[in-house]
Amino acid sequence: MTARFTDRIALVTGAGGGIGSAIAARLAEEGATVIVADVVAEAAQRTVDEIVAGGGAAVPSTFDLRSPEAIRAAVAGLLAEHGRIDVLVNNAGVNRRGALLELSDDDWALTFDVNVDAIFHLTRAVLPQMVERRTGAIVNTASQWGLHPAPGHIGYNVSKAAVVSFTQSLARDYAPHNVRVNAVAPGEVRTPMVEANLARTGRTVDDLNKLVPFGRIGEPSEIAALVAFLASHETPYLTGTVVEITGAQAVS
Ligand code: NAD
Repeated sequence: MTARFTDRIALVTGAGGGIGSAIAARLAEEGATVIVADVVAEAAQRTVDEIVAGGGAAVPSTFDLRSPEAIRAAVAGLLAEHGRIDVLVNNAGVNRRGALLELSDDDWALTFDVNVDAIFHLTRAVLPQMVERRTGAIVNTASQWGLHPAPGHIGYNVSKAAVVSFTQSLARDYAPHNVRVNAVAPGEVRTPMVEANLARTGRTVDDLNKLVPFGRIGEPSEIAALVAFLASHETPYLTGTVVEITGAQAVS
């Protein structure tokens, strides 16, 4: 494997979860020191242990993305410890099901706190040192549903549409400072988030696989490979883009 992140410090949120742990592992395999951020300390530690067991470098960082103060304090501590953050992956997210009349106020608020506001606060905390050093890469985990809304998930769809626009807007504003900003927009990926949704609806992964022209839903490692490419310096001109990764599945 190439080592595109040697000597880089990468902060990955939701890194105790399905896609985030795969992103953290991939960046570490390619030489990064990965800050594994999650609100669930045991989940973050599990990812760190797996990376370290494989010979990589990782440290846990536990904070709640719903708290702007916690975000600012965590980033200040991380910058004091590591000196810089070269790669930021805003990956954490929640998915609350429901059409407008079914979704609770709390579900809507949580969705926007974690999926949108947290990205605003975390990126604002990390960006100044990227701008100052004139280098940095930010990758946001949006969703195919942010581009093509799925029925019965209005809060999630709208929050991910915001992630798409945030990505494009930030990229335009900070391209002159050599900070690149891109997003991935996955279709369904086999993670605890999807498994929880399936458990609620009584469907199986096989049911989902049949809906994908490629023959199956995505694997976290496949999303991680794309995130690593976007975060790398292979294509400095690539910024402001949102890449769908779906096995050619249309939203139905
Ligand atoms: P997951 O539930 O496995 O992981 C999400 C992680 O985010 C968890 O470890 C969780 O603890 C963390 N998190 C949640 N709230 C938090 C908070 N307040 N503070 C800090 N951390 C918090 O989900 P996943 O499937 O790996 O999803 C990762 C990202 O990918 C999300 O943004 C999701 O919307 C997106 N996505 C997933 C799919 C899919 O099919 N799984 C498809 C498209 C997009």
